[in-house]
Amino acid sequence: RQSGCAQLTFYLTFSVAFLVPYRHMFGPGPSNVPLRILEAGANPVIGHMHPEIFKIMSDIKSGIQYMFQTQNNMTLAVSGTGHSAMECAIFNAVEPGESVLTAVNGIWGERAAEMTERIGARVNTIVTPPGGFFTNAEIEQALSKHRPVLFFLAHGESSTGVLHPLEGIGQLCHKYNCLFLVDSVASCGGTPLYMDQLEIDILYTGSQKVLNAPPGTAPISFSERACQKILNRRTKPVSFFLDLSWLANYWGCDGKLSRVYHHTGPVTAFYSLRESLAVLVEEGLQNSWERHQEVAEYFHAGLESMGLKLFVKPKEARLPTVTTIVAPHGYDWKEITAYIMKTHNLEISGGLGPSVGLVLRVGLMGCNSSKANVDMVLAALKDALKHCHKSKV
Ligand code: PMP
Repeated sequence: RQSGCAQLTFYLTFSVAFLVPYRHMFGPGPSNVPLRILEAGANPVIGHMHPEIFKIMSDIKSGIQYMFQTQNNMTLAVSGTGHSAMECAIFNAVEPGESVLTAVNGIWGERAAEMTERIGARVNTIVTPPGGFFTNAEIEQALSKHRPVLFFLAHGESSTGVLHPLEGIGQLCHKYNCLFLVDSVASCGGTPLYMDQLEIDILYTGSQKVLNAPPGTAPISFSERACQKILNRRTKPVSFFLDLSWLANYWGCDGKLSRVYHHTGPVTAFYSLRESLAVLVEEGLQNSWERHQEVAEYFHAGLESMGLKLFVKPKEARLPTVTTIVAPHGYDWKEITAYIMKTHNLEISGGLGPSVGLVLRVGLMGCNSSKANVDMVLAALKDALKHCHKSKV
């Protein structure tokens, strides 16, 4: 039996309403969520198989097709964060024993390799130090050597701030009968990306970055070529939850008239996701790409004029959504991020995976991508460099 004292402790804990402060979310994600999108998520919960929800899901599908610039019928949102879309792509496209190639220039290629390994596939990697990227010749050489069924590449490497060029890679993959999988969690909506034109077979993103929706849904799309491989597998995918044939039915992508219960779709997250796609459509994709680029250039110039250095040297390889700054010499980066949080109520972050200790990362995505916010970050950084400890050596 529960003692009266323990009951009282629980009661006291929950009798106080929880408070969440407003914060400037200028790290690599999540981004701030505008009221309009938050309010959309506050609509009533109704059944995940009710016709109104199917209509909302159908709108989401069109919105993702627009955002990805694709005509793919197999387009949906996974109920989960970016990682669930990564696993959805890999678990469906790869069978145990098959060969996979991942490009590692930061943490995301490492994670994709790890996921692939976990399902018993054979993984090969091409690796370059943080801040680097691959030439098409290097990629072709690895494709011809390892003959993978899938090649993974992060378009926006948020751990290093690199925007990877994509031109011609889809064609190379297809020359070697390999599917091209692209992670655009940190890039999509903030920089040009044409799924069909680039011959990308599987593309996914997240809800919480450029889209400014809460974390928890992950748009994903599969080309006809990817669907052919996936739907003709010899073995079932290891995950029931992420099995594309089930998801395709739930999202009305399999041409069947009736939909069968698979899992309870997070309906309120769908409302927010739909609203965030509506915001993107209203602004226009092209305008969003241009705004992010202009704001990023303004930011980069401001950083350089303060004497800070950008981690990614070639201008064209700088991600306009997430900027990496060389960790200022003589400072403890943790003190800088903590100072800025405490004094300016603003989140920026340090490195991740292979970039830990090397960089500070600032994300200005979706509604956060504005010159006024750049000025706020620059002022916070100036203040931090003035007040944080600097070693003399
Ligand atoms: N890929 C990239 C490029 C990312 O930036 C992130 C999120 N930081 C992810 C994948 C994983 O997304 P999530 O945290 O939503 O699972």
